[in-house]
Amino acid sequence: MSEKIVLNPQLNFIDGQRLSPDSELGGWLCNPNTGERLQPQRASSPAQIERALAAAARVHESGTWAARADRAELMEQIAAELEKRIEDMAQQEALTTGVVITLTRLLMQIAPLTFRQAAAQLRSGWTRSTLPGPHGAVEVLRQPWGAAALIAPWNAPGPIAAHKTANALAAGCPAILKPSEFAPATCNLIADAIEAVGLPPGVFQLVHGGAEVGAALVHDSRIRAVSFTGGLNGGRAVAAACAHDFKPAQLELGGNNPMVILEDADVELAAQAVVYGLITLNGQWCRALGRLLVHESLAHLLLNRVLTLLADVQIGDARAPESAMGPLIHAGHLRHVQGQIAALLEKGGTAHSTTPLPALPGYFLAPTLITGCAPQDTLDEIFGPVAVMHSFATDSEALALANQTPFGLAGYVFSRDEARALRLGRQIRSGGVKINGIGLVGLHPLAPRPAWGLSGFGEEGTEETFRFFCGTRVVGVAARS
Ligand code: NAD
Repeated sequence: MSEKIVLNPQLNFIDGQRLSPDSELGGWLCNPNTGERLQPQRASSPAQIERALAAAARVHESGTWAARADRAELMEQIAAELEKRIEDMAQQEALTTGVVITLTRLLMQIAPLTFRQAAAQLRSGWTRSTLPGPHGAVEVLRQPWGAAALIAPWNAPGPIAAHKTANALAAGCPAILKPSEFAPATCNLIADAIEAVGLPPGVFQLVHGGAEVGAALVHDSRIRAVSFTGGLNGGRAVAAACAHDFKPAQLELGGNNPMVILEDADVELAAQAVVYGLITLNGQWCRALGRLLVHESLAHLLLNRVLTLLADVQIGDARAPESAMGPLIHAGHLRHVQGQIAALLEKGGTAHSTTPLPALPGYFLAPTLITGCAPQDTLDEIFGPVAVMHSFATDSEALALANQTPFGLAGYVFSRDEARALRLGRQIRSGGVKINGIGLVGLHPLAPRPAWGLSGFGEEGTEETFRFFCGTRVVGVAARS
């Protein structure tokens, strides 16, 4: 195993100063591989939150950040600083989230990339265009809304926080980032990278804490836009807070994502995709497999093949390079997922799992398929390495099962007949549908990442997130009446 590393301290970054958050949440940040306590979870006090809000409002009102002509260059300097920290971020993320190091090393590449993409969006000219008017040009100006609250989850905090921060700052919004209270480490390193570039005080700020700190930010009228990634309850609370003063909200929430395996599918390809959908990010991935929908003629064969493949999956310490899967994030989440499995078993389900667990005291759970439940009992997101399996006889039955949940984030269809799979895929009510494949990487770098139903709104993406942080003003000389 790799040598012991120390968890970075949780430090706020408020108005240019690194400060310890004033209070403790009462819980602990633990190493999910071992259960070892690492640090108490810390939270910002109301006075610290007030300082951050006042500084962000001051920056926005002064107009100095929005007026900086070198914002794109500064984003690229931050990208360069992040590149120096990729290995550190990957190690900290594996230590705190349990995502395996081979994957966190890939995911952390997104952090600098997203700052470079945001710089390119700023340079694209989209923020200033003209239309021919009655008396000269009509200007269409895209201007920063104002101070933005960026709220990150624990499952891939580094890339998610970097994407939000890069686009808010590039658009000209002073940004306050609130990491998850369960995985603050990589956000500290993002703050280090930004501090190294030396942005003016208050342009970027970091405040640690739990849901109360997030709620204090989103309820404050000085916050003019909110980008939130997290669960349904948090999303609803944020949407309600934003409704009060009509601030734009970008909500990236959960999914219960269907994978449809038609009778002419390549079973080996499909079985590998099922395994990927169960174990990637330890099943704690918003686009993970939730509902496996298999043509009745293949159900037995596919289940057997998946269980054979799962028997060879190596679960272990997330920081060990040979681990293909790590533990769940924390003890409470493990209990929650185990409770959801137990509830499905009580409703008539049968659990199937073949992956050996390591002899470690961490929060490990073998990837599990559950058969035999009624489809109306399997509508919720589980957010762990667990999927339910249902079979169908016709394409229209498959479609009805795929569209049965209130979510709409991702879908997958497997068939040797791509045209047929695409036809079905277009009818799945979700933001993205992949044919004959799964994977963390999207279909195209510029493809939006939308959500339907309870999976959220205010779609994200390379262009979309930058644009989310801008409001529009149209200015021109009027026609004389
Ligand atoms: P969570 O909702 O518990 O917490 C997310 C963040 O919101 C944390 O920083 C938390 O402190 C904060 N928060 C919670 N309640 C809040 C409130 N009322 N007001 C303001 N802030 C609040 O989610 P989580 O458990 O950290 O993450 C898992 C969830 O995130 C899953 O549902 C998953 O599907 C979803 N997710 C979605 C995407 C996506 O792109 N759609 C990506 C990653 C994770």
